Amino acid sequence: MPERAPASFPREREAEVIVVGGGPAGSTVATTLAEAGHRVLLLDKAAFPRHKACSEYINPAAAQLLGQLGLGDDILRAGAHRMAAMLVHAPDGRRFVADFARAEPGQAAFGLSRYRLDHLLLERAKAAGVTVRERAHVRQVVREGGRVVGVAATINGDREWLRSSLVIGADGHNSVVSRELGLDTTVRWPRKTGLVAHYRGVTGLVRSGEMHVASGLYAGLAPLEDGLTNVAVVAGGHAVTARSGSIEAFFTESLRAIPAVARKLDGAERVGGIRGAGAMARRARRTAGAGYLLIGDAASFLDPFTGDGIYEALRAAQLAAPVASVALRAGDTSAVALDPYRIARRRAFTAKRHVCWIVQGFIHAPPLMNYVTARLSRREELALTLSGVLGNFYPASQALSPRFLARLLRP
Ligand SMILES: Cc1cc2nc3c(=O)[nH]c(=O)nc-3n(C[C@H](O)[C@H](O)[C@H](O)COP(=O)(O)OP(=O)(O)OC[C@H]3O[C@@H](n4cnc5c(N)ncnc54)[C@H](O)[C@@H]3O)c2cc1C
Repeated sequence: MPERAPASFPREREAEVIVVGGGPAGSTVATTLAEAGHRVLLLDKAAFPRHKACSEYINPAAAQLLGQLGLGDDILRAGAHRMAAMLVHAPDGRRFVADFARAEPGQAAFGLSRYRLDHLLLERAKAAGVTVRERAHVRQVVREGGRVVGVAATINGDREWLRSSLVIGADGHNSVVSRELGLDTTVRWPRKTGLVAHYRGVTGLVRSGEMHVASGLYAGLAPLEDGLTNVAVVAGGHAVTARSGSIEAFFTESLRAIPAVARKLDGAERVGGIRGAGAMARRARRTAGAGYLLIGDAASFLDPFTGDGIYEALRAAQLAAPVASVALRAGDTSAVALDPYRIARRRAFTAKRHVCWIVQGFIHAPPLMNYVTARLSRREELALTLSGVLGNFYPASQALSPRFLARLLRP
């Protein structure tokens, strides 16, 4: 990354804020800043609508945030499938119901393809006054005197240098902004690969989605719009790279190996290809610094099992926007001025992250997963607490209290 902008780097700002990436995080922060009166340019390398490797499960708290953005009716019109509960199956076949509606009336998760969801969010950003440039691939972050002052992007085949007071990296799992700033860290565990596809004709999913934990992998089923179902397999990265056959064979054999999933897929047909993402867990060393913020997956992501990704992307955008707005109005986008975002993230996400690590421990140890699932299936009050925590509408601290953990684990 150049420490100095090239001589040709414009002196005039293209926008107050450049947002790199138009997924849920980028579109949402761009919308919120534009509505606060800021001049925002959003760059995305894709042309929308576009698919994204994702299980396409919108957890209850994410659904609420979409409602706050004024998109509640739009996602229903787009065909979002309402899920009052998530059924979590242990390797021995026992199951626990994360019943959101029973934990708190009115709570529900939704299934909607990212093809539709992300397009709605990007259109919302345009309507709020954001300048959106698609097929705009950011290649470099430009720094001057130790602070970020803009980006270089390939747009329609031409290299463009763009200056701004603030760059927000919302460019997902392989964030170029994080990489260019030297903020990527190596997450050694878990190292998993996620594979997803759409199916038509999956039976038995009406008011819930399903997770099935098996030895070395798990599968997810989420009903979507138009009778489609998102089918996902998440396995150790090594198991995927060391497979003997094709990805397609690995995917279908993994699903066949879980009898309850195989039964639901019997007679169903796959629509379109298999999409995937490897080494999914990531974390940036810092999420705020002189002239930049990182949000969504560009900042961190652990694993799709708990369905937190879209929620965290929307929530991080909601936390970043007011900090950015105050800094821009004050004409001070220094590391100190932007630091409140880092603190707000810690408050918002740390406890849930600990819950997610505990869940990772369970799904990696089949006997423990069997044991905990059996306990949850017999103790409704524990199951309801965990439902609210997994859905992010109860504080995560409730599932970390010694009392809760003792009642969950006590033989
Ligand atoms: C297999 C799998 C299953 C998942 N299932 C779920 C689930 O069911 N529920 C859930 O909540 N979360 C799930 N997640 C996580 C979820 O997909 C992410 O957390 C979420 O997409 C993060 O949103 P984002 O806006 O940060 O990034 P993204 O959605 O990845 O958006 C990033 C955008 O940046 C653009 N971009 C990237 N690089 C550049 C560049 N250099 N220049 C310009 N543009 C760029 C991309 O085109 C993209 O549009 C899953 C993830 C995986 C891998």
